[in-house]
Amino acid sequence: MKALLEKLCRQRRLEREEWEGLLARRREIDRAGLFSRAEAERRRHFGDAVFVRGLIECSSFCKNDCRYCGIRRSNRRAARYRLDRATVLACCEKGYEWGFRTFVLQAGEDPGLTPEGVAETVRAIKARFPDCAVTLSLGEFPREVYQLWFDAGADRYLLRHETADPDHYACLHPPELTLAHRLDCLRDLKDIGYQVGAGFMVGSPGQSARTLAADFCFLQEFRPHMVGLGPFIPQKDTPFAAEPAGTLEDTLLLLALVRLTLPRALLPATTALGTIHPQGRELGILAGANVVMPNLSPPAVRGKYALYDNKLCTGDEAAEHLAGLKKRLKAIGCTVAVSRGDFPGAEGEAKNKC
Ligand code: SAH
Repeated sequence: MKALLEKLCRQRRLEREEWEGLLARRREIDRAGLFSRAEAERRRHFGDAVFVRGLIECSSFCKNDCRYCGIRRSNRRAARYRLDRATVLACCEKGYEWGFRTFVLQAGEDPGLTPEGVAETVRAIKARFPDCAVTLSLGEFPREVYQLWFDAGADRYLLRHETADPDHYACLHPPELTLAHRLDCLRDLKDIGYQVGAGFMVGSPGQSARTLAADFCFLQEFRPHMVGLGPFIPQKDTPFAAEPAGTLEDTLLLLALVRLTLPRALLPATTALGTIHPQGRELGILAGANVVMPNLSPPAVRGKYALYDNKLCTGDEAAEHLAGLKKRLKAIGCTVAVSRGDFPGAEGEAKNKC
Protein backbone atom coordinates (compact mmCIF):
# COMPACT_ATOMS: atom_id res chain seq x y z
CA MET A 1 0.00 0.00 0.00
CA LYS A 2 2.72 2.40 1.07
CA ALA A 3 4.92 1.45 -1.86
CA LEU A 4 2.07 2.10 -4.29
CA LEU A 5 1.47 5.57 -2.86
CA GLU A 6 5.19 6.33 -3.09
CA LYS A 7 5.13 5.23 -6.71
CA LEU A 8 2.08 7.39 -7.41
CA CYS A 9 3.83 10.43 -5.95
CA ARG A 10 6.95 9.75 -7.98
CA GLN A 11 5.39 8.91 -11.32
CA ARG A 12 1.91 10.46 -11.10
CA ARG A 13 0.50 7.24 -12.48
CA LEU A 14 -0.04 3.59 -11.66
CA GLU A 15 -0.79 0.53 -13.75
CA ARG A 16 -4.42 -0.55 -13.90
CA GLU A 17 -3.82 -3.60 -11.66
CA GLU A 18 -1.98 -1.41 -9.15
CA TRP A 19 -4.89 1.04 -9.05
CA GLU A 20 -7.33 -1.79 -8.58
CA GLY A 21 -5.27 -3.27 -5.74
CA LEU A 22 -4.88 0.10 -4.03
CA LEU A 23 -8.56 0.95 -4.38
CA ALA A 24 -9.74 -2.49 -3.24
CA ARG A 25 -7.73 -2.07 -0.03
CA ARG A 26 -8.33 1.65 0.40
CA ARG A 27 -9.61 1.20 3.94
CA GLU A 28 -6.09 0.28 5.01
CA ILE A 29 -4.54 3.51 3.72
CA ASP A 30 -3.12 5.90 6.35
CA ARG A 31 -5.65 8.65 5.74
CA ALA A 32 -4.01 11.40 7.77
CA GLY A 33 -0.75 10.85 5.93
CA LEU A 34 -2.47 10.79 2.55
CA PHE A 35 -4.44 13.98 3.22
CA SER A 36 -1.42 15.92 4.41
CA ARG A 37 0.50 14.90 1.29
CA ALA A 38 -2.42 15.97 -0.91
CA GLU A 39 -2.79 19.24 0.93
CA ALA A 40 0.94 19.93 0.68
CA GLU A 41 0.71 19.29 -3.04
CA ARG A 42 -2.16 21.76 -3.35
CA ARG A 43 -0.23 24.39 -1.39
CA ARG A 44 2.89 23.86 -3.48
CA HIS A 45 1.01 24.82 -6.64
CA PHE A 46 -1.66 27.19 -5.37
CA GLY A 47 -0.43 28.49 -2.00
CA ASP A 48 -3.35 29.15 0.32
CA ALA A 49 -5.68 30.12 -2.56
CA VAL A 50 -9.09 28.55 -2.97
CA PHE A 51 -10.98 29.57 -6.10
CA VAL A 52 -14.66 30.39 -6.10
CA ARG A 53 -17.00 29.96 -9.06
CA GLY A 54 -20.56 31.28 -9.16
CA LEU A 55 -22.85 28.46 -10.27
CA ILE A 56 -25.89 29.49 -12.29
CA GLU A 57 -28.29 26.62 -12.88
CA CYS A 58 -29.85 27.80 -16.13
CA SER A 59 -32.44 25.13 -16.84
CA SER A 60 -33.90 22.04 -15.18
CA PHE A 61 -35.36 20.68 -18.41
CA CYS A 62 -33.52 17.61 -19.68
CA LYS A 63 -34.01 15.31 -22.64
CA ASN A 64 -31.87 12.59 -21.05
CA ASP A 65 -32.92 9.91 -18.62
CA CYS A 66 -29.86 9.22 -16.45
CA ARG A 67 -30.93 6.82 -13.72
CA TYR A 68 -29.26 8.72 -10.88
CA CYS A 69 -30.46 12.20 -11.71
CA GLY A 70 -33.49 13.97 -10.24
CA ILE A 71 -34.08 16.11 -13.34
CA ARG A 72 -34.17 13.10 -15.69
CA ARG A 73 -36.77 13.29 -18.42
CA SER A 74 -39.10 10.69 -16.98
CA ASN A 75 -39.33 12.30 -13.54
CA ARG A 76 -42.79 13.81 -13.79
CA ARG A 77 -42.46 15.32 -10.34
CA ALA A 78 -39.40 17.41 -11.18
CA ALA A 79 -40.11 21.15 -11.28
CA ARG A 80 -38.96 22.60 -14.59
CA TYR A 81 -37.70 26.11 -15.27
CA ARG A 82 -35.44 27.90 -17.72
CA LEU A 83 -33.73 31.23 -17.04
CA ASP A 84 -33.82 33.85 -19.78
CA ARG A 85 -30.72 35.78 -20.81
CA ALA A 86 -31.58 38.87 -18.78
CA THR A 87 -31.92 36.76 -15.64
CA VAL A 88 -28.59 35.02 -16.23
CA LEU A 89 -26.94 38.41 -16.73
CA ALA A 90 -28.55 39.73 -13.56
CA CYS A 91 -27.08 36.75 -11.66
CA CYS A 92 -23.63 37.55 -13.08
CA GLU A 93 -24.08 41.21 -12.14
CA LYS A 94 -24.75 40.29 -8.52
CA GLY A 95 -21.96 37.72 -8.52
CA TYR A 96 -19.50 40.25 -9.89
CA GLU A 97 -20.34 42.68 -7.09
CA TRP A 98 -19.78 39.93 -4.54
CA GLY A 99 -16.35 39.17 -6.02
CA PHE A 100 -16.92 36.27 -8.42
CA ARG A 101 -14.74 36.23 -11.55
CA THR A 102 -15.92 32.90 -12.97
CA PHE A 103 -19.50 32.10 -13.88
CA VAL A 104 -20.51 28.51 -14.45
CA LEU A 105 -23.64 27.99 -16.54
CA GLN A 106 -24.99 24.52 -15.85
CA ALA A 107 -28.21 22.89 -17.03
CA GLY A 108 -29.90 19.69 -18.06
CA GLU A 109 -29.67 18.92 -21.76
CA ASP A 110 -32.46 21.30 -22.62
CA PRO A 111 -33.47 21.55 -26.29
CA GLY A 112 -34.86 24.97 -25.37
CA LEU A 113 -31.31 26.22 -24.91
CA THR A 114 -30.37 26.57 -28.56
CA PRO A 115 -26.73 26.69 -29.68
CA GLU A 116 -27.09 30.25 -30.96
CA GLY A 117 -29.03 31.34 -27.87
CA VAL A 118 -26.29 30.05 -25.57
CA ALA A 119 -23.61 31.67 -27.76
CA GLU A 120 -25.43 34.98 -27.47
CA THR A 121 -25.58 34.66 -23.67
CA VAL A 122 -21.85 33.89 -23.54
CA ARG A 123 -21.10 36.90 -25.76
CA ALA A 124 -23.22 39.12 -23.54
CA ILE A 125 -21.47 37.96 -20.35
CA LYS A 126 -18.01 38.38 -21.87
CA ALA A 127 -18.88 41.83 -23.21
CA ARG A 128 -20.18 42.98 -19.84
CA PHE A 129 -17.48 41.28 -17.72
CA PRO A 130 -14.35 40.99 -19.88
CA ASP A 131 -12.21 40.07 -16.88
CA CYS A 132 -14.33 37.01 -16.05
CA ALA A 133 -14.14 33.40 -17.19
CA VAL A 134 -17.24 31.60 -18.44
CA THR A 135 -17.57 27.88 -17.83
CA LEU A 136 -20.29 25.88 -19.54
CA SER A 137 -21.73 22.60 -18.29
CA LEU A 138 -24.62 21.86 -20.61
CA GLY A 139 -23.98 18.25 -21.63
CA GLU A 140 -23.16 16.56 -24.94
CA PHE A 141 -23.21 18.51 -28.20
CA PRO A 142 -21.68 18.19 -31.66
CA ARG A 143 -18.17 19.56 -32.03
CA GLU A 144 -19.45 22.49 -34.13
CA VAL A 145 -21.62 23.64 -31.24
CA TYR A 146 -18.74 23.44 -28.76
CA GLN A 147 -16.68 25.45 -31.28
CA LEU A 148 -19.44 28.06 -31.64
CA TRP A 149 -19.52 28.58 -27.87
CA PHE A 150 -15.73 28.69 -27.64
CA ASP A 151 -15.65 31.32 -30.39
CA ALA A 152 -18.31 33.24 -28.47
CA GLY A 153 -15.85 33.42 -25.57
CA ALA A 154 -16.49 30.40 -23.34
CA ASP A 155 -13.28 29.42 -21.55
CA ARG A 156 -14.02 26.14 -19.81
CA TYR A 157 -16.37 23.16 -20.07
CA LEU A 158 -17.40 20.73 -17.37
CA LEU A 159 -18.55 17.34 -18.59
CA ARG A 160 -18.04 14.63 -16.02
CA HIS A 161 -17.22 11.31 -17.65
CA GLU A 162 -19.33 9.73 -14.83
CA THR A 163 -17.46 6.38 -15.04
CA ALA A 164 -14.76 5.15 -17.40
CA ASP A 165 -16.05 1.57 -17.37
CA PRO A 166 -18.44 0.97 -20.31
CA ASP A 167 -20.63 -1.59 -18.50
CA HIS A 168 -20.92 0.62 -15.44
CA TYR A 169 -21.73 3.54 -17.74
CA ALA A 170 -24.54 1.46 -19.23
CA CYS A 171 -25.87 0.67 -15.76
CA LEU A 172 -26.12 4.38 -14.91
CA HIS A 173 -27.48 5.64 -18.23
CA PRO A 174 -30.17 4.86 -20.81
CA PRO A 175 -29.01 2.88 -23.87
CA GLU A 176 -28.80 5.92 -26.16
CA LEU A 177 -26.01 7.39 -24.02
CA THR A 178 -22.60 5.74 -24.36
CA LEU A 179 -19.23 6.15 -22.72
CA ALA A 180 -17.60 6.24 -26.15
CA HIS A 181 -19.63 9.30 -27.12
CA ARG A 182 -19.02 11.02 -23.79
CA LEU A 183 -15.26 10.55 -24.26
CA ASP A 184 -15.47 11.81 -27.86
CA CYS A 185 -17.08 14.99 -26.51
CA LEU A 186 -14.31 15.41 -23.91
CA ARG A 187 -11.63 14.98 -26.58
CA ASP A 188 -13.38 17.50 -28.86
CA LEU A 189 -13.56 20.03 -26.04
CA LYS A 190 -9.88 19.68 -25.21
CA ASP A 191 -8.91 19.82 -28.85
CA ILE A 192 -10.88 23.02 -29.38
CA GLY A 193 -8.94 24.66 -26.57
CA TYR A 194 -11.28 24.66 -23.58
CA GLN A 195 -9.99 24.04 -20.07
CA VAL A 196 -11.87 20.79 -19.57
CA GLY A 197 -13.40 19.22 -16.48
CA ALA A 198 -14.09 15.48 -16.21
CA GLY A 199 -15.10 13.63 -13.07
CA PHE A 200 -17.45 11.13 -11.49
CA MET A 201 -19.75 10.44 -8.58
CA VAL A 202 -18.34 8.52 -5.63
CA GLY A 203 -20.39 5.50 -4.59
CA SER A 204 -22.70 5.42 -7.61
CA PRO A 205 -24.58 2.11 -7.86
CA GLY A 206 -22.34 -0.54 -9.43
CA GLN A 207 -19.09 1.29 -8.70
CA SER A 208 -16.24 -1.02 -7.64
CA ALA A 209 -12.46 -1.02 -7.24
CA ARG A 210 -12.36 -2.16 -10.87
CA THR A 211 -14.48 0.71 -12.22
CA LEU A 212 -12.59 3.20 -10.05
CA ALA A 213 -9.30 1.87 -11.43
CA ALA A 214 -10.69 2.62 -14.90
CA ASP A 215 -11.50 6.17 -13.74
CA PHE A 216 -7.96 6.77 -12.51
CA CYS A 217 -6.44 5.27 -15.67
CA PHE A 218 -8.62 7.60 -17.70
CA LEU A 219 -7.70 10.65 -15.58
CA GLN A 220 -3.96 10.00 -15.76
CA GLU A 221 -4.13 9.59 -19.55
CA PHE A 222 -6.57 12.36 -20.44
CA ARG A 223 -5.24 14.79 -17.82
CA PRO A 224 -8.26 17.08 -17.55
CA HIS A 225 -7.72 20.56 -16.13
CA MET A 226 -10.54 20.08 -13.64
CA VAL A 227 -12.00 17.04 -11.91
CA GLY A 228 -15.49 17.19 -10.42
CA LEU A 229 -15.87 14.52 -7.81
CA GLY A 230 -18.69 14.29 -5.28
CA PRO A 231 -20.71 11.60 -3.53
CA PHE A 232 -23.69 10.04 -5.28
CA ILE A 233 -26.82 10.99 -3.33
CA PRO A 234 -30.12 9.22 -4.09
CA GLN A 235 -33.10 11.23 -5.33
CA LYS A 236 -36.46 9.87 -4.25
CA ASP A 237 -38.16 9.90 -7.69
CA THR A 238 -35.41 8.06 -9.57
CA PRO A 239 -34.76 4.33 -10.08
CA PHE A 240 -31.86 4.66 -7.62
CA ALA A 241 -34.06 6.08 -4.83
CA ALA A 242 -33.28 3.21 -2.45
CA GLU A 243 -29.53 3.01 -3.17
CA PRO A 244 -27.09 4.10 -0.47
CA ALA A 245 -25.26 7.42 -0.86
CA GLY A 246 -21.52 7.60 -1.42
CA THR A 247 -19.57 8.21 1.78
CA LEU A 248 -17.59 11.16 3.06
CA GLU A 249 -14.64 8.86 3.74
CA ASP A 250 -14.45 7.55 0.18
CA THR A 251 -14.95 10.99 -1.35
CA LEU A 252 -12.10 12.52 0.67
CA LEU A 253 -9.79 9.64 -0.07
CA LEU A 254 -10.47 9.77 -3.80
CA LEU A 255 -10.06 13.56 -3.86
CA ALA A 256 -6.63 13.15 -2.28
CA LEU A 257 -5.66 10.47 -4.81
CA VAL A 258 -6.76 12.72 -7.68
CA ARG A 259 -4.62 15.56 -6.25
CA LEU A 260 -1.58 13.24 -6.17
CA THR A 261 -2.29 12.06 -9.73
CA LEU A 262 -2.93 15.53 -11.20
CA PRO A 263 -1.10 17.95 -8.87
CA ARG A 264 -2.20 21.11 -10.70
CA ALA A 265 -5.81 20.20 -11.27
CA LEU A 266 -8.67 22.43 -10.25
CA LEU A 267 -10.58 20.21 -7.88
CA PRO A 268 -13.90 21.37 -6.42
CA ALA A 269 -15.14 20.50 -2.97
CA THR A 270 -18.62 19.93 -4.38
CA THR A 271 -22.09 20.87 -3.20
CA ALA A 272 -22.82 17.14 -2.85
CA LEU A 273 -19.90 16.84 -0.42
CA GLY A 274 -21.25 19.81 1.54
CA THR A 275 -24.67 18.14 1.53
CA ILE A 276 -23.59 14.84 3.13
CA HIS A 277 -21.58 16.51 5.90
CA PRO A 278 -21.80 19.98 7.45
CA GLN A 279 -18.02 20.40 7.17
CA GLY A 280 -17.82 18.54 3.87
CA ARG A 281 -16.29 21.38 1.88
CA GLU A 282 -13.62 22.22 4.43
CA LEU A 283 -12.72 18.56 4.77
CA GLY A 284 -12.54 18.34 0.98
CA ILE A 285 -10.11 21.24 0.88
CA LEU A 286 -8.03 19.65 3.61
CA ALA A 287 -7.88 16.53 1.43
CA GLY A 288 -6.57 18.47 -1.58
CA ALA A 289 -9.53 20.26 -3.20
CA ASN A 290 -9.07 23.92 -4.20
CA VAL A 291 -12.36 25.16 -5.69
CA VAL A 292 -15.80 25.90 -4.26
CA MET A 293 -18.83 26.72 -6.37
CA PRO A 294 -21.47 28.63 -4.41
CA ASN A 295 -24.96 28.81 -5.85
CA LEU A 296 -25.61 32.00 -7.79
CA SER A 297 -28.97 30.98 -9.28
CA PRO A 298 -31.96 33.22 -8.48
CA PRO A 299 -33.12 32.12 -4.99
CA ALA A 300 -36.63 31.40 -6.35
CA VAL A 301 -35.43 28.54 -8.58
CA ARG A 302 -32.70 27.08 -6.38
CA GLY A 303 -34.90 24.35 -4.94
CA LYS A 304 -35.94 23.28 -8.43
CA TYR A 305 -32.56 22.15 -9.70
CA ALA A 306 -33.01 19.02 -7.63
CA LEU A 307 -30.39 16.57 -8.88
CA TYR A 308 -30.59 14.73 -5.54
CA ASP A 309 -32.45 14.97 -2.24
CA ASN A 310 -31.69 17.72 0.30
CA LYS A 311 -29.26 19.46 -2.06
CA LEU A 312 -27.67 22.40 -0.24
CA CYS A 313 -28.43 25.80 -1.68
CA THR A 314 -28.66 28.00 1.39
CA GLY A 315 -26.28 29.10 4.14
CA ASP A 316 -22.69 29.36 3.03
CA GLU A 317 -23.59 27.41 -0.12
CA ALA A 318 -25.39 30.55 -1.32
CA ALA A 319 -23.25 32.99 -3.28
CA GLU A 320 -24.60 35.96 -1.30
CA HIS A 321 -22.98 34.50 1.80
CA LEU A 322 -19.46 34.64 0.43
CA ALA A 323 -18.35 36.34 3.65
CA GLY A 324 -19.40 33.25 5.63
CA LEU A 325 -17.49 31.01 3.26
CA LYS A 326 -14.40 33.22 3.51
CA LYS A 327 -14.52 32.90 7.27
CA ARG A 328 -14.78 29.14 7.14
CA LEU A 329 -11.90 28.92 4.71
CA LYS A 330 -9.79 31.28 6.79
CA ALA A 331 -10.29 28.97 9.75
CA ILE A 332 -8.52 26.22 7.78
CA GLY A 333 -5.71 28.49 6.55
CA CYS A 334 -7.08 29.33 3.09
CA THR A 335 -8.01 32.57 1.36
CA VAL A 336 -10.54 33.10 -1.39
CA ALA A 337 -8.73 34.13 -4.57
CA VAL A 338 -10.29 37.00 -6.52
CA SER A 339 -8.64 36.03 -9.82
CA ARG A 340 -10.30 33.95 -12.54
CA GLY A 341 -8.33 30.99 -11.25
CA ASP A 342 -7.25 29.42 -14.52
CA PHE A 343 -5.49 26.09 -14.78
CA PRO A 344 -1.86 27.02 -14.04
CA GLY A 345 -0.48 25.21 -17.10
CA ALA A 346 1.51 22.04 -17.38
CA GLU A 347 4.99 23.52 -17.74
CA GLY A 348 7.41 22.66 -15.04
CA GLU A 349 4.89 20.30 -13.49
CA ALA A 350 7.02 19.22 -10.60
CA LYS A 351 7.40 15.53 -10.12
CA ASN A 352 9.06 13.35 -7.51
CA LYS A 353 8.51 15.77 -4.72
CA CYS A 354 5.83 14.53 -2.39
N1 SAH B 1 -26.31 18.08 -18.19
C1 SAH B 1 -24.98 18.38 -17.73
C2 SAH B 1 -24.95 18.69 -16.24
C3 SAH B 1 -25.34 17.52 -15.40
S1 SAH B 1 -25.60 17.87 -13.68
C4 SAH B 1 -24.07 17.22 -18.08
O1 SAH B 1 -24.54 16.24 -18.66
O2 SAH B 1 -22.88 17.30 -17.83
C5 SAH B 1 -23.95 17.85 -13.07
C6 SAH B 1 -23.48 16.58 -12.38
O3 SAH B 1 -24.28 16.30 -11.26
C7 SAH B 1 -23.54 15.32 -13.19
O4 SAH B 1 -22.46 15.24 -14.07
C8 SAH B 1 -23.56 14.22 -12.14
O5 SAH B 1 -22.26 13.67 -11.94
C9 SAH B 1 -24.02 14.98 -10.87
N2 SAH B 1 -25.24 14.34 -10.34
C10 SAH B 1 -26.40 14.08 -10.98
N3 SAH B 1 -27.24 13.38 -10.18
C11 SAH B 1 -26.60 13.20 -9.01
C12 SAH B 1 -26.92 12.53 -7.80
N4 SAH B 1 -28.07 11.90 -7.64
N5 SAH B 1 -26.01 12.56 -6.79
C13 SAH B 1 -24.84 13.20 -6.94
N6 SAH B 1 -24.47 13.82 -8.06
C14 SAH B 1 -25.33 13.83 -9.09
